[in-house]
Formats: sequence, structure tokens, C-alpha cells
Amino acid sequence: MARLSHAQARREMVERQLVRRGIVDAGVLQAMGQVPRELFVADDLARYAYDDTPLPLANGQTISQPYVVALMVEAARFGRGDRVLDVGTGSGYAAAVLAQLASKVFGVERYAELVHTARQNLARAGVTNVEVFEGDGSMGLPQHAPFGAILVAANAPAAPHPLKQQLAEGGRLVIPVRADGYQDLLVLTREGDKFSEKNLGPVQFVPLVGEQGFRDTRGGGAGID
Ligand code: SAH
Repeated sequence: MARLSHAQARREMVERQLVRRGIVDAGVLQAMGQVPRELFVADDLARYAYDDTPLPLANGQTISQPYVVALMVEAARFGRGDRVLDVGTGSGYAAAVLAQLASKVFGVERYAELVHTARQNLARAGVTNVEVFEGDGSMGLPQHAPFGAILVAANAPAAPHPLKQQLAEGGRLVIPVRADGYQDLLVLTREGDKFSEKNLGPVQFVPLVGEQGFRDTRGGGAGID
């Protein structure tokens, strides 16, 4: 059987992996149906771009499974006019999805090589409202705060204080946090000086390595105490 075209495969991905698993936000489904994921993976992986799985990137990192990206973006519930922070930009794919729904996306990635690739991928995909910075995203991007939402694509020992502080009122931080060996995807919503918390369940992400994250790539010691 001939392989599906990327556009067909993308439509099937939206239906089978997202709609059937309960993603309902029309904007999120539309954005996921628009962004060409094949442009965010290495050429030899393009034929797997719409598979129900994470895929490898450079430096031992991974582009998240489409469903997990949709789940995080849906949970972030920001508005069209909002600025959004994407921590752990990797390939730039999640940033491209966010860019369909926000006015501006700021991405932070710690590996220079991935920063370069993300910029290239975003340009190839025609995405113009994402700016990618190289650095430690566990500290956020104070010069561009506050953000309507912050999405973190790497797991942390706890929700980093600087990220919570950089949320706008009502803004949401979506972050995988490790507790006793497994990770939970948490959604923190800013309500004045307080934060309400919701747990979306178990997930698996690479470690957030930085001042407010883990100290090394093995996810060993926490950088904060
Ligand atoms: N959203 C990405 C997923 C990339 S995986 C995508 O759609 O492709 C998570 C990324 O987080 C990796 O690229 C890793 O290098 C990056 N990362 C880990 N710790 C970081 C930190 N402190 N600051 C910025 N990026 C970090």
C-alpha cells in the first residue's frame, strides 16, 4: 500500500491520536492539523512524523509525541493576544503549534545546535512569530515576562519559582514534575499570589537541566534545594 501523503497522515493523526483521546479544543486541533511535523524531524525520520510516538533529535533529546503536545497546549488555555514562553524548544515543533494560537512565542533551548535547528525548522515551516533564545529556560525569560502561559517540555524536580513569577494573572504553567521516580504533568494557574494546581497524570520527558532544574542529564541531583 502506498504511504499516505504528509497532509493525509496529519489529518489521521488529528483524528486518531487527538480527537479519539479527548482533545476537544478546536483551535488546538486546527493548529495540530496545520503544522508540518515532518519539517521538524531529520529527513530520514520524516516518514514517521505522524506516528504516535516521540522521535529522536540531536544531543539525545526528543520531539514529544503529538498527543502530549496537544494535551499541553490545550491545558495552557491562553488567548490569541497572549505571549507564550516555550521552555525546551528542541526542534521548534511545539513552538510552531503555539505560534498558531498566540500572538508571540518565546522559545528557550539550552543546546546551541538545537537552537540553530529550531530556527531553521521554523523558517522552513513559514512560522514568523517565534523567537528562539539559547540559555537556561528554568530561569524563564524575565525581560519578556509576563506570559499568558509557560510550557516546559522537560521534567523538573519542582515547578521553578522564576517561571511561576513570570506568569501573568490567570496565566498557566504546564510542566512535568518528577515525584518519586515518575513524572506528573502539572498545570499551575496563577491567582494573585497563589497558584492552583491540577495533575494531568503520568508522562515521560527528558530532564530540565539548569539552575532550577536538575544538575546533570541523568536527572540525578536537583539543582535547587
Ligand atoms: N518542545 C520540543 C521538545 C524538546 S525535548 C519539541 O517540540 O521538539 C526538551 C528540550 O528541553 C530538549 O531539547 C533539551 O535540550 C531542552 N532543555 C533541557 N533543559 C533545559 C533548560 N534548562 N533550558 C532550556 N532548554 C532545556
